[in-house]
Amino acid sequence: MRRWNGWGDETITYPVPPRALAFLEASLGEGTRLEDASLEAVVAAAPPPKLPAGAMLSNEPEVRLRHALGQSLPDWIALRSGRIPAFPDAVAFPESSSDVRDLLRFAQWAGAKIIPYGGGTSVVGHLTPVAGESPVITADLGRMTRLLRLDETSGLATFGAGVAGPDLEAQLRARGLTLGHYPQSFDYSTLGGWVATRSSGQQSAYYGRIEKTFAGGRLESPEGTLDLPVFPASAAGPDLRELVLGSEGRLGILTEATVRVRPLPERDTFFGVFFSDWTSGMEAVRAMVRSGIPLSMARLNNAEETRTSLLLSGKPKLVSVMERYLSFRRVGGGKCLAILGCTGLAPLCKAAREQALGVARTYGGIDLGRAVGNTWQSKRFRAPYLRNALWEAGFAVDTLETALPWSRLASAARDVEAALVSGLESSDEKVHVMSHLSHVYPDGASLYTTYLFRIADPETALHRWTILKGAATAALLANGGTISHQHGVGTDHAPYLPAEKGPLGMAALGAVIRTMDPGGIMNPGKLVL
Ligand SMILES: Cc1cc2nc3c(=O)[nH]c(=O)nc-3n(C[C@H](O)[C@H](O)[C@H](O)COP(=O)(O)OP(=O)(O)OC[C@H]3O[C@@H](n4cnc5c(N)ncnc54)[C@H](O)[C@@H]3O)c2cc1C
Repeated sequence: MRRWNGWGDETITYPVPPRALAFLEASLGEGTRLEDASLEAVVAAAPPPKLPAGAMLSNEPEVRLRHALGQSLPDWIALRSGRIPAFPDAVAFPESSSDVRDLLRFAQWAGAKIIPYGGGTSVVGHLTPVAGESPVITADLGRMTRLLRLDETSGLATFGAGVAGPDLEAQLRARGLTLGHYPQSFDYSTLGGWVATRSSGQQSAYYGRIEKTFAGGRLESPEGTLDLPVFPASAAGPDLRELVLGSEGRLGILTEATVRVRPLPERDTFFGVFFSDWTSGMEAVRAMVRSGIPLSMARLNNAEETRTSLLLSGKPKLVSVMERYLSFRRVGGGKCLAILGCTGLAPLCKAAREQALGVARTYGGIDLGRAVGNTWQSKRFRAPYLRNALWEAGFAVDTLETALPWSRLASAARDVEAALVSGLESSDEKVHVMSHLSHVYPDGASLYTTYLFRIADPETALHRWTILKGAATAALLANGGTISHQHGVGTDHAPYLPAEKGPLGMAALGAVIRTMDPGGIMNPGKLVL
């Protein structure tokens, strides 16, 4: 059973290793362990629904609670404290495009708003109902998961948009195929959610971000059906897939999505390289990507993230042997770990690895081989479970991300981190901050920053988050970063979108939304305010 107020499956825990906890307590002070609201109490406090139950609709309070929020830090604070800002009045479980069309008609008739819901893993407030007079229906796509069509000759697979990562891969792997889209939320996030938020998987350098693999599909909107036919390429005017990508449920419900799939790779390997500092690591990965070495992933931790992830590995003896070896090779306190990945045909992987290591060496990189890469790979979908344990130890964790040209990355990383580190100084609180480059491109990279602070109580935690988020966002925007590389806009980033798109861009976006949804029933308050 999935946790209702945290991350993941209830049976899986990932305790914070004692040394990591001691380090955090030494850096931030002891955490305040808050008592969570119980599921029973929160369910009992659900307001009466404004809609009756129906063939496709449940208005059970627990079902409504489980669809009321996503996974952002404000969502967590609300769930853990039991102070839910708004419940949907009903949750719909459509099973086909025709059910979705019926649902949209019903919502129009009932004056209800609709929030499409994939895996509920949004981290920027995409799923919260806007409190108001109108009833709200959350449409859970979790029954639309089948592989509907497969064109093996062309490598095109059409799925129900509610299919989650593991189910999608299992259906493809049974046929020797893969999509290879691996966001860290893979276990729960869905194909429709990936498209609607412009998601990026960890090996996007090989498989492509979702906008590359999303080949077409079907969107049911209040004004009718938008079919997106599949072509390998087309010059027939603007590409309407781009309207649906990142639409965050504002235009309608994506019911089917066709994706470009590939044969399972012959090789999929990850290896770790240490650099003596962040600057040489950045120069090295930039040189690798600019020279066209076909890596599937290049992720570079800064010194703080390297130190923290070694502590979190829970293998102190192994880490100490490794650190002795690294210091013998003159790589010490400021060391930065890069995880590099090669995917595809075995000889090409071998060549890419050798080329990448050759470049790494010219920047002083030390190859620690596959063991480090394998450890990262084995834990890549487990790391979010740490958030549960950290919360229970009294610490809140949040992340923010952006993308910038190479020329501005170093200053952006410095300014975002400085804004976070000093963000709570006025209340004499410390913030633990670390960053990594998560996706690299020839012209730039995405910068992903994680920060931890003490919770105190729910109001204080939210207040601290608001200060930190505002300060870090101001710093990344001042450096010319996008408001999001992969998480999307939701409610948390919506106030910043006009600065990025400009008045004409926002007007165009608004016009598209009004054309597809003149009554404004689709996920109001998200993306465009
Ligand atoms: C621990 C963790 C790790 C994460 N790691 C990554 C990562 O590595 N890369 C990344 O890109 N993101 C990541 N995310 C963010 C999140 O997983 C993505 O935004 C994901 O794409 C959301 O998919 P979902 O199915 O959960 O969508 P939801 O959260 O359910 O919905 C997100 C938005 O999409 C809309 N939507 C969903 N389905 C449909 C549909 N069928 N039709 C129309 N609109 C729809 C919703 O209305 C909402 O606006 C992470 C989140 C968490 C909690």
